[in-house]
Amino acid sequence: MKALRYTKIGSAPEVVEIEKPTPGPGEILLKVTAAGVCHSDDYVMSLPEEDYLAQQYPLPLTLGHEGAGVIESFGEGVETGLQIGDAVAVYGPWGCGHCLNCSQGKENYCTNAVAEGIRPPGLGSQGSMAEYMIVDDVRHLVPIGDLDPVKNVSLTDAGLTPYHAIKRSLPKLGAGTVAVVIGSGGLGHVGIQMLKALSGATVIVLDVSDEKLELAKHVGADVTLISDESAAGKIRELTGGVGVDAVFDFVGANPTIATATAVAAMEADVTIVGIGGGSATIGFGSIAYDAAVRVPYWGSRSELIEVFELAKAGKVDVEVQPYSLDDAPKAYEDLHAGAIRGRAVIVP
Ligand code: NAD
Ligand code: ZN
Ligand code: ZN
Repeated sequence: MKALRYTKIGSAPEVVEIEKPTPGPGEILLKVTAAGVCHSDDYVMSLPEEDYLAQQYPLPLTLGHEGAGVIESFGEGVETGLQIGDAVAVYGPWGCGHCLNCSQGKENYCTNAVAEGIRPPGLGSQGSMAEYMIVDDVRHLVPIGDLDPVKNVSLTDAGLTPYHAIKRSLPKLGAGTVAVVIGSGGLGHVGIQMLKALSGATVIVLDVSDEKLELAKHVGADVTLISDESAAGKIRELTGGVGVDAVFDFVGANPTIATATAVAAMEADVTIVGIGGGSATIGFGSIAYDAAVRVPYWGSRSELIEVFELAKAGKVDVEVQPYSLDDAPKAYEDLHAGAIRGRAVIVP
């Protein structure tokens, strides 16, 4: 079968021919129907050799941590009500399944995953950018029914991650409040729609490109601003000096974190989702009173089911740029160049 693999540190990923995998005991084989392209893959492939190896990523690594497929076969001993041919999405943040957090469906916060070497597909285990993929446990399958896999595969990360980030701040986002989204890319353009669907907040969106701000408007942003040193002042002005109730930073670089902390109102949530290498110095006087800074990771299994409910209700719609598996390396080039509107999705 064909797979998109990162084979050599510092080189572009390539389409290679590998053996079709066989599911071991407890595993499931999926025939992949769609695989999303996330900026985190770009980050992993930008790591210098010592960091890549220190974080124990394997080589070669089949990319893809957003995956959807149909069940092709079951390994020995799989007990499930699911049938061969069922359409499913892959819940990506795999955990041990038996710690307290996993028992609550929060496998993204598994307390054993690191010690037991359990890694998400495409981010340590072999991923979804192939004709077939192995899923380690039925816990990690979520049936998607009639949802179009190409349109919706990215909800497994570009939907789930902003949903998890936003959900905890919803009590602070009633009518008359203001939320800021920084970065209207794959995650951001879905996050904007979730804020519009679930909160009463006016949504201000920052990005560095006019095309991305146009996308933000298209998906419901109330106000758009170019992300630069003047943005924080403009947001303060727009809020009569008070600041905003929640900020979701889908970039996470030093300048965006500086903007995020500068515009926070008293008791605001500042949520840093992007892994852009930035950090904040927080102390008394450097951020509004009682503001809370959070750094969440991905989301829970039950939240993924909620995200698919939003899609079924027509409340989130991912802007998709499809690519064939043969063209998958080009999708990563386009992502790196900032040329993707919404999410690139590989269709094997
Ligand atoms: P993307 O490339 O699709 O989108 C990034 C957007 O940010 C683009 O629209 C880009 O123009 C914009 N941008 C870049 N610099 C900016 C700046 N200074 N100010 C404002 N906007 C700027 O990326 P994505 O796939 O949506 O991922 C977003 C970030 O979230 C990445 O860092 C990714 O690694 C990270 N991520 C984190 C988690 C998590 O669990 N915490 C999960 C998935 C992705
Ligand atoms: Zn991701
Ligand atoms: Zn666990």
